[in-house]
Amino acid sequence: MSEAAAPAAVWNTVDEAGIKLLRIPTPFQVGRVNCYLLEDEPLTLIDAGPNSGKALDELEHQLEALGRRIEDIEQVVITHQHIDHLGLVDIVAKRSGAEVAAIDILAPYVANFGDDAERDDDEAGELMRRHGISQDVVAALRQVSGSFRAWGSKATVTKPLRDGETLTLRDRDLEVQLRPGHSPSDTLFWDAERKILIAADHLIAHISSNPLLSRPLDGSERRQALVEYIESLQKTRLLPAEVVLSGHGEPITGHADLIEKRFAMHQRRAEKLYGLIAEEPRTGHGLAQALWGDIAVTQAFLTLSEVIGHVDLLVNSGHVRETETDDGVVHFEATTNAAAEDLGDLMPGGNPVPRKG
Ligand SMILES: [Zn+2]
Repeated sequence: MSEAAAPAAVWNTVDEAGIKLLRIPTPFQVGRVNCYLLEDEPLTLIDAGPNSGKALDELEHQLEALGRRIEDIEQVVITHQHIDHLGLVDIVAKRSGAEVAAIDILAPYVANFGDDAERDDDEAGELMRRHGISQDVVAALRQVSGSFRAWGSKATVTKPLRDGETLTLRDRDLEVQLRPGHSPSDTLFWDAERKILIAADHLIAHISSNPLLSRPLDGSERRQALVEYIESLQKTRLLPAEVVLSGHGEPITGHADLIEKRFAMHQRRAEKLYGLIAEEPRTGHGLAQALWGDIAVTQAFLTLSEVIGHVDLLVNSGHVRETETDDGVVHFEATTNAAAEDLGDLMPGGNPVPRKG
């Protein structure tokens, strides 16, 4: 989908709400990250960008264009745990003395950012091996993930937020909504009065947020990231939002339609994977290769996340099961002879929207 510019009227609504967009460069494929300055009391910055000199320069210049300096920031809010959003939080907080607000479960993760890296990489490596990715690729990815980590940073959350609580500023109330999926700590900020939802990477107009396999913040079993994500989207779909502000790209109007499109896409992708599994039992990586052909080393984990997320839907609905070979590699196999188009609705909890065509 191309990135169509939002109409001027949408930007007017955002502007009238005292929300200014700062587009901060990242070294990642996703491009710039959207940070938002809430001209309110306290003066609040939502996300800060990755930890790089270039990002910091741009943050300073874009604030300057609004007549502000980093030192003026009184509160920084973190939307989720990804480094393109939180890398500069510590520098901004130290220079300004700002409070740092984030969902409570994220506080220990950012306080110890990087300390668990070794363990994270071990677990990701084990997961990739179990799903058929070779040892060479696992080792190469480990180097990539090590070099990415420098764009993150530790930070101290001084104002932990609870799911459902209200973050009150002089001119607005923001309801804090934990909506995991894209990452375990995705947090939305809902201005019910203005019907504006600050959603970060939970919903992006031009790309479907890839729910990454990741270690749960509480150290429990692997989460079903896509299942969790779809459940979160089902809640967001019901909000009467007029504008959704994303972590990348343009503001979204008509978010309910966009979410329906995402559900239809996930359904189709799961059906396609089922078709491949019904042909012959395959590993997660084998499925990724069957879908996308040769996969670049750097994409191996992303594509595996995408596949496993959808296979979870098939396993939960009883159409597919896991078998493990002696070498500990998981294969997925079909449990019935059903045709892919006869699987029925695979969205967890049922998709409230009837399927079209
Ligand atoms: Zn992001």
